[in-house]
Amino acid sequence: MTFSKIGIVGAMVEEIELLHKHTDVTNTIHKAGITFYEGRFHDKDIIFGKSGVGKVNAAVCTQVLIDMGVDCILFTGVAGALDPELEIGDIVISTSCLQHDMDVTPLGFARGVIPFQEVSDFNADPRLIELAEQASERLFNGRYRKGKILSGDQFVASRETVKELYEDLGGTCTEMEGAALAQVCAMNGIPYVVIRSMSDKADGSAHVNFEEFTVKASDHSYRIIDDIISRM
Ligand code: SAH
Repeated sequence: MTFSKIGIVGAMVEEIELLHKHTDVTNTIHKAGITFYEGRFHDKDIIFGKSGVGKVNAAVCTQVLIDMGVDCILFTGVAGALDPELEIGDIVISTSCLQHDMDVTPLGFARGVIPFQEVSDFNADPRLIELAEQASERLFNGRYRKGKILSGDQFVASRETVKELYEDLGGTCTEMEGAALAQVCAMNGIPYVVIRSMSDKADGSAHVNFEEFTVKASDHSYRIIDDIISRM
C-alpha cells in the first residue's frame, strides 16, 4: 500500500506521547493553536498532532493536516465501550463514524442525521481497516471489534445513555472526535480509520476508570498504529 505522507491524530497528550517518543521528529509546525510534528517513523513520512478534546478541535486539526499534504489519516486514542462484550483495553476499529449528538429530530430527521446531506455516517477506508484488523489479530489475540463509532461533545457516563447509543444507534464505542475527523476526511476525499482502545465502559464508573486506564489503553492503540505503519 502506498501512502506517501501519513497523518496521525490523538486528542490528548497520553494518546500521542508514545508516537512522539518513537518518531524521529524533523520539523515542528504551529497552526491554529495546534503543534504538529513532522518526521520519520518506520521509514515513512508522518505528521501528527494533538487535536485537543471534542469535535471542533478534531475537525480543525484534520483540515490542517490535509492542507499539509497528508494522504491518509489515522486516529489513535481511547473511548468508552458501548458493546457489552468489550472489556477495558480492547480495541475498536471504525467501520464508520457518526455524530450521536447531531439531533434535528424535531424537524423529522432521524437522530445522527445531518440535514440536507447525503451521508452522515462516514465510512472508514477498507484498506486501513484491514491493516488495523491484521494488527489487532496479531497483537491482541482477537480482542477487538470492528464497528460504528459514535462521537459527540459529551463524556458518556451513564448506563441509560450506553443502552440508547448501543441499541438505537448501533454504536460499538463512544468518544468525542472520530466523526468530526471522518467528516472532514470525507469532504476532502482522504481515507481514514479510527482506532480506539477502551478506557472505560461509559457507565457510572467511567470517570473513575478513565484516568486509571487511559495510559494502558493509549499504549494498546499506539501499538496498532505502530504495526500498521510498519506494513504500509
Ligand atoms: N483528559 C481530560 C478530558 C478527557 S475527555 C480530563 O480528564 O480532564 C475524554 C476523552 O477520551 C475524549 O478525547 C474522548 O474521545 C475519549 N473518551 C473516553 N471515554 C469516553 C466516554 N465514556 N465518553 C466520551 N468520550 C470518551
